[in-house]
Amino acid sequence: GAVIGILGGGQLARMLSVAAARLGYRCHVYDPAPNPPAAHVAARATTAPWDDAEALERFAAEVSVITYEFENIPVAALDLLEAQRPIRPSRRALAVSQDRLTEKTFLSGLGLEVAPFAPVEDADSLEAAIETVGLPAILKTRRLGYDGKGQVRLTGAEDAPAALQAIAGAPAILEGFVNFEREVSVIAARGLDGTVACFDPGENVHREGILRTTTVPARLSASQRADAALVAGRILNALDYVGVMGVEMFVTPGGLIVNEIAPRVHNSGHWTQQGCAVDQFEQHIRAIAGWPLGDGSRYADVTMENLIGEDVARVPQIARERNATIHLYGKAEVRPGRKMGHVNRITGPAG
Ligand code: ATP
Ligand code: MG
Ligand code: MG
Repeated sequence: GAVIGILGGGQLARMLSVAAARLGYRCHVYDPAPNPPAAHVAARATTAPWDDAEALERFAAEVSVITYEFENIPVAALDLLEAQRPIRPSRRALAVSQDRLTEKTFLSGLGLEVAPFAPVEDADSLEAAIETVGLPAILKTRRLGYDGKGQVRLTGAEDAPAALQAIAGAPAILEGFVNFEREVSVIAARGLDGTVACFDPGENVHREGILRTTTVPARLSASQRADAALVAGRILNALDYVGVMGVEMFVTPGGLIVNEIAPRVHNSGHWTQQGCAVDQFEQHIRAIAGWPLGDGSRYADVTMENLIGEDVARVPQIARERNATIHLYGKAEVRPGRKMGHVNRITGPAG
């Protein structure tokens, strides 16, 4: 049977592997770290660095299609892999989302609303960026940021030197602070044949830059809901995308503002595991394997709670709750801010 290659072996790869197995596929995960969460459930795992050409070539030779669970895969590795097997979603989706400046430029080029932004390399360009973007603002490194890492808030011009120091002079963008009513995300999928399907938008609550909960249904009007799906569809079509994407948005009185996109299954889509006949993980496997997209319509109201760091100590109590489904990632070491698992609580039939 066919083997699906997954770059990165974290919890997203783990849950992709489970979904793939249900559809009769075996997964081969590639991760520089030994014994990652996905290695417990995938059929095969390679532990090798991203610059190990031999290991990459062996990996590619053993799989029929390659996908990924995080966006910061070095370009040289992708070049090697792509010479042998299709990578889905495509290189372009990765390139666009690896760099916040490219990402924002791409999104605004599609005519979508984004926060005001300007590139920052040094003290002078930061000063200029504050002029164009205004304050308050957020300085974000262009690359490698996640869970709010690599971000500093500026309330006054006097915060500039400390902000630059905090990101250690890394290439950055300054983003105007959006006074949003709430945050939502759309988990959207596009098949090999170009069909697009969106899961119902989820309402996201962050704490200390990390996603804490996603609730469906999000508090959105019918027209906001339609807009959210149209925005997501536009992005996927523009990239000729194949697979699942997470699109984070701010809801404002003036409309939806796109925050960022993730070219992969997304933490804010974990509720689909208990809310839909076909969840985001199966939807992604279907898309990259050339299946028709599945039925992702929502049959339940769900709240997903991330179990972060010591939250995981509550699992014994959660295990006694009704209508709660626990997902643990098999990580041995508990660290502050580390995603250890999540719980999906079904709060009622779809309302
Ligand atoms: P993720 O883990 O989702 O990849 P990230 O580190 O890439 O997160 P962002 O999504 O850019 O970071 O920002 C994290 C959170 O910070 C957002 O979900 C939002 O709550 C807040 N935030 C980010 N940018 C802005 C902004 N321009 N205005 C207001 N709040 C913002
Ligand atoms: Mg991000
Ligand atoms: Mg984000």
